[in-house]
Amino acid sequence: MSKRLPTSTAGSLPKPSWLAQPETLWSPWKLQDEALIEGKQDALRVSLQEQQQAGIDIVSDGEQTRQHFVTTFIEHLSGVDFEKRKTVRIRNRYDASVPTVVGEISRHKPVFVEDARFLRQQTRQPIKWALPGPMTMIDTLYDDHYKSREKLAWEFAKALNQEAKELEAAGVDIIQFDEPAFNVFFDEVNDWGIAALERAIEGLKCETAVHICYGYGIKANTDWKKTLGSEWRQYEEVFPRLQKSNIDIVSLECQNSHVPIELIELLRGKKVMLGAIDVATNTIETPEEVAATLRKALQFVDADKLYPCTNCGMAPLSRSVARGKLSALSAGAEIVRKEL
Ligand SMILES: [Zn+2]
Repeated sequence: MSKRLPTSTAGSLPKPSWLAQPETLWSPWKLQDEALIEGKQDALRVSLQEQQQAGIDIVSDGEQTRQHFVTTFIEHLSGVDFEKRKTVRIRNRYDASVPTVVGEISRHKPVFVEDARFLRQQTRQPIKWALPGPMTMIDTLYDDHYKSREKLAWEFAKALNQEAKELEAAGVDIIQFDEPAFNVFFDEVNDWGIAALERAIEGLKCETAVHICYGYGIKANTDWKKTLGSEWRQYEEVFPRLQKSNIDIVSLECQNSHVPIELIELLRGKKVMLGAIDVATNTIETPEEVAATLRKALQFVDADKLYPCTNCGMAPLSRSVARGKLSALSAGAEIVRKEL
């Protein structure tokens, strides 16, 4: 990246109301068949244009073509029965009815490769594509086949690796794995979680990122955050091991969070996508607030490795709030760029 402090978003952006119910996760599509395919592509174009108008440097599809960041990927694999559901606890936080793993996991067809190719055709800017991480995937399923979280994660990592290689060939510059589960299951992260992630990026030449966060601004997450105390030190458990991993970039949450910013020091040497936009509030940050967060981070990360970003996805926000936040991110990064 030649430009300093290149901006990007952590993941999803709001969908237009003609495609899906706004401000809702898992929102059902409003179109069907051919009209849905066309509608998703149109939404991707709109989302891209909004990022470009806000001055975002590394752009994405805004996750316009998927319903959910984990489920949509799993739906394309064999070995999971979506009719056979069980209630399980997600990330030790809330109960959800989830599909069951009933047989061997395999990926017979590409999941997002066509969408990524379409995005590549629309822009010459660097593009980033998000995939779920293996540990977060296993945490949204009931496993009646492998009966081992580690084994199942390993199978998902293999499927993710196949997808990632095809995304790279389609022209994706950065492939990001979303692993909010890394903030919950520390022992497993260090035992096999990071190894599974490294299996997912094996052989890739494009840049790779892992996004670890405290989740969307939905109630289950904000309630959980209230139990974490005044200092959120979860990252402390996994950053030292991530620093030694093959992952190029670590994406984390910072703005309005209780994460002690000096924990970033544990990643020294890695690129850091720093969340300078809170996605759990409708209040739009001022550029000066964004700049202040970035300046603080610069004490712990070299300027050529700092990537200003949002805390998490913005799918649950209104489009106007999301647009405002994108512009603030851009303007805040520009303030600090001039100071470097
Ligand atoms: Zn997130």
